[in-house]
Amino acid sequence: MRMMIGKGVFRRLPLLMLGVLVAQTAVAALQFKDRYSPWNAKREARRETRYILLHTTEGPGKGSLEKLYRYGEAHFMVDTDGVVYRLIDRRRVAMHAGRSMWEGITGLDDYTIGIEVAGYHNRAITKAQIAALRELLDQLKVTYRIPDQNIIPHSMVAYGAPNRWHRRSHRGRKRCGMQFADRSLREKLGLKSQPLFDPDVKAGRLVNADPYLALALFGSAREQTKAAAHFDGDSAMIIAPGRSAWDIARDKYRNSNTRYLFPDGRELRGDQVTNWKSMPAGTRVVLSADARENDEERLLEIGTESGVGDLAGDEALASTTIYFLKDGRVRQGSEMTREQVDALPSGTRILVGYVHGGYLTAKRSAFDICGAKWNSPTTLYRLQDGRVLTGEQVTEGSLPPMAMVFFVR
Ligand SMILES: [Zn+2]
Repeated sequence: MRMMIGKGVFRRLPLLMLGVLVAQTAVAALQFKDRYSPWNAKREARRETRYILLHTTEGPGKGSLEKLYRYGEAHFMVDTDGVVYRLIDRRRVAMHAGRSMWEGITGLDDYTIGIEVAGYHNRAITKAQIAALRELLDQLKVTYRIPDQNIIPHSMVAYGAPNRWHRRSHRGRKRCGMQFADRSLREKLGLKSQPLFDPDVKAGRLVNADPYLALALFGSAREQTKAAAHFDGDSAMIIAPGRSAWDIARDKYRNSNTRYLFPDGRELRGDQVTNWKSMPAGTRVVLSADARENDEERLLEIGTESGVGDLAGDEALASTTIYFLKDGRVRQGSEMTREQVDALPSGTRILVGYVHGGYLTAKRSAFDICGAKWNSPTTLYRLQDGRVLTGEQVTEGSLPPMAMVFFVR
């Protein structure tokens, strides 16, 4: 039967078109391999596809593939040999963008296809990867009618909530995929246009925390080359005057699998460090290849070393800073006064850069509140007994009414 259909189709095709078909097949020598994540079936269908985000895995291909598979953190991964792995159906949501904003649109997982390229933000990718990525992009551009300037590095759209180094929400959370802004590489990928400035910094929605990254992303060809030389030094990984833990580890600075090796031989994990300000020069930062693409966002705690200012910066009184008071009440910064915030005792927990989604009820599901993000690792549920679960830890049926939902917009 299949043979007959095939014959029928080809019989109707003029010879000339058949020639074109053959030629296209020769170019389209993409080698796909399926490695669909267990998360694939649980992810919602994407309603819109506006952008393609390009990532670098920051680790070797094989381990990265397993990690992406385990967490469903990309639609595709292009390995160093040019093989393209399919991890999440391109029509569904993959959790790859994390805290993200572009042109005022937030939560870019809902609007993007995510392609991970095995490699590092400050190293060249292979010829096989360039060829495969170009072909993959050509196909997706046609399927989704995506203009070249909407094919952008993850580092361009990722942003961070305030922290001890940056008092406002800021660009520079990640350097992931930054080489995909490089004009010469884009040319090889068949991309003819690109963003020339950061729309969200320009509009004052974010501040720029990294002038070198901004040059690498938006500068002229010459400025990009100069900035790239700065990023060669990324491999140094040593804290020095003017080079903080954040400069080196970025959003992974307080990750439990980021390690700090102090000059005196002591070693601490990122989640054990309390005294960030007096971290000695010469401390070596070791990032784990197991670290996830986007850290799970989490509750922070006011302590002797971290005041509200360290944790929420200038956004302490914003509606997106959420306080879990010790008496069990939950308050947004916008409902607090400066005096109240400054008087919060040690041990008070805080969420920074979050939307308070309110309570789940019989009539108001998690999907009603935060859409496809309901099972995102960054979405948090506070149960009535005080426990907090991530979106990955819950199933739709297991959520009790009266759980409170918090999500990254
Ligand atoms: Zn990325």
